Amino acid sequence: MRKQIAAANWKMNLTYQQGQELLDKILAENIEIKVHHEVIFGVPFPYLIMAKEKVANLKNYHISAQNCYNKKSGAYTGEVSVEMLESIKIHHCIIGHSERREYFAESNLMLSEKLDLLLGTGITPIFCCGEPLSIREAGTQNEFVEKQLQESLFHLSEEDLKKVVIAYEPIWAIGTGKTATTEQAQEIHAHLRSVLAKKYGEDVANEISILYGGSVKANNAKELFSCPDVDGGLVGGASLDAVDFAEIIKALQ
Ligand code: PEP
Repeated sequence: MRKQIAAANWKMNLTYQQGQELLDKILAENIEIKVHHEVIFGVPFPYLIMAKEKVANLKNYHISAQNCYNKKSGAYTGEVSVEMLESIKIHHCIIGHSERREYFAESNLMLSEKLDLLLGTGITPIFCCGEPLSIREAGTQNEFVEKQLQESLFHLSEEDLKKVVIAYEPIWAIGTGKTATTEQAQEIHAHLRSVLAKKYGEDVANEISILYGGSVKANNAKELFSCPDVDGGLVGGASLDAVDFAEIIKALQ
């Protein structure tokens, strides 16, 4: 059974103390986590070690970075390498978030390099894809996301692909309060899985967790997560509220 995942993306929010408090509140809920569930906190770089210590004794709770650089090491002032994340035993790394694609000009090729570096270590990439509003309005979202997968992922071996978590995040739904309907989410998740199946076969495609991201809230998580091809969510805004994110974790199927 593929993993069902509730992943928080704090982005550039919260002070260190607020981050500690938020984690403490969520963890104090002692939410029952099933064997096929995972809870991931994508926290800012300076909080990684603190957050890791908080979940150290909890099964299926992990900490994720929100980005890494696409070069191994060297004169890249201000950047954080995969090797650095590995050296503090970080479990996951979000890459290709639409904000990074838009504000930092991250290309599909650059993301393929990040994937290779992450997969060269034991760090699980959470690869984000998703279309802008203009593409959705033109009705070409399937082709758009297919190209993102082809250009970033399709050089991977079957074995490596199985280690990747995909997050489908329609850009028009991120931070806008506009959520994809369950029909829209299911349709494009099924398409993504069929694209993976075409290249790697059904069995491999069925093992990949595909998360939905875009205004997931406590009151819509259950419905979204109940779609057969939606394997949980990548959550921005609602992950900053302990009660809301706890409800989202509880909505995992
Ligand atoms: C995100 O940025 O990954 C995201 C899905 O944000 P929000 O939940 O706020 O739409």
